[in-house]
Amino acid sequence: MSVSGQQAGTADAESASTLPALTPGPAAGLEIVDAWLAEHADDLVRWRRHIHANPELSRAEFATTEFVGEWLTKAGLDYEVLPGGTGIVCDLGPTDRPRIALRADMDALPMQEFTGLPFSSTAPGVSHACGHDAHTTVLLGAALALAEAEETLPVGVRLIFQPAEEVMPGGALDAVAAGAMVGVDRIFALHCDPRLEVGKIGLRTGAITSAADTVELILDSPGGHTSRPHLTSDLVYAIGTVITGLPGLLSRRVDPRTSTVMVWGAVSAGKAPNAIPQTGMLTGTVRTGDHATWELLEPLVREIVEGLLAPTGVRFQLNYKRGVPPVVNDPISVAMFENSILAMGPEALADTPQSGGGEDFSWYLEEAPGAMARLGVWSGEGEQLDLHQPTFDIDERALEVGVRTLTGIVLHA
Ligand SMILES: [Zn+2]
Ligand SMILES: [Zn+2]
Repeated sequence: MSVSGQQAGTADAESASTLPALTPGPAAGLEIVDAWLAEHADDLVRWRRHIHANPELSRAEFATTEFVGEWLTKAGLDYEVLPGGTGIVCDLGPTDRPRIALRADMDALPMQEFTGLPFSSTAPGVSHACGHDAHTTVLLGAALALAEAEETLPVGVRLIFQPAEEVMPGGALDAVAAGAMVGVDRIFALHCDPRLEVGKIGLRTGAITSAADTVELILDSPGGHTSRPHLTSDLVYAIGTVITGLPGLLSRRVDPRTSTVMVWGAVSAGKAPNAIPQTGMLTGTVRTGDHATWELLEPLVREIVEGLLAPTGVRFQLNYKRGVPPVVNDPISVAMFENSILAMGPEALADTPQSGGGEDFSWYLEEAPGAMARLGVWSGEGEQLDLHQPTFDIDERALEVGVRTLTGIVLHA
């Protein structure tokens, strides 16, 4: 699919004009990437296994940062470590052209690995169950391949090896605060998808992940005897009102096409059957696939909770924690992804549904348009595992596909 700047949606017309029209088909530098992959495919596997065996938690990715830095240096690339001491930003290519950023996350999860792989995690209670070892490897491979093709790059490139995707607030905010998006026209990223077969890249225009905020409601009443609710504020009754009332009223105040859903995860109050308790608590999440709705959710939740609880006389404290915005893929960036993927063959391109999960890549999209795609890592046989499972693993053939995809975006730009 070929999309020129003129065919872009109006919202992106301005940013589109900063990039040349896309040129699908052969692109200078592709043979250099091919040659690099022919020589270094084994390196990709080795790097991934090294990072996999040595996982590091969010904002503690010191050894991973050093590992990436050493290879960048060997390739003759200068880089900067982010102020927190983990994560890397590295520029290459022309400085007088538009600049494309490619982003990988580097952190592991606080969970024990149970894959039984010979290169399993050597860090007790820490593992790469979200595939960020693969993301780091793919971006490092893309960096080294593009470094060989530096003379022919049609655009400038910024590599962002980001710390701390798995926690809130996420490391994307650290990277943005350190200036990682200054001078960037577009940004791209891949995330492993264990439900998609290796060789395929899943893509969609619009929201690909969701916003996820946390609601905590603490209720407070004088308490009293259950025979005399009229002399106090019935806290358990008030909780019942909010449990059903908030999700219900949200679904009537928000456009259902935005995939907005509020679900309580924990509720507690009281002990005795004949005593009205003095305190209670509810916590849950509100998710939405729509950026404009995300902006409105906090005041709307406050308005509804106030309205529901006012007649009960129960006092409350509402702690609303905003999470990440949804990742909303812009059409031109999706077309640039498509160009790169289709160069591998039409069968490489797949659709992907919007996920209810959150991803802090969205913070970069507050600064510049871009897109995230799903990298197929399922071998095509056996069980399809999920991310964040202790037995999660990837088909390592996906590493080469990932490098081709990211380098192709740059070379076709
Ligand atoms: Zn994850
Ligand atoms: Zn992840």
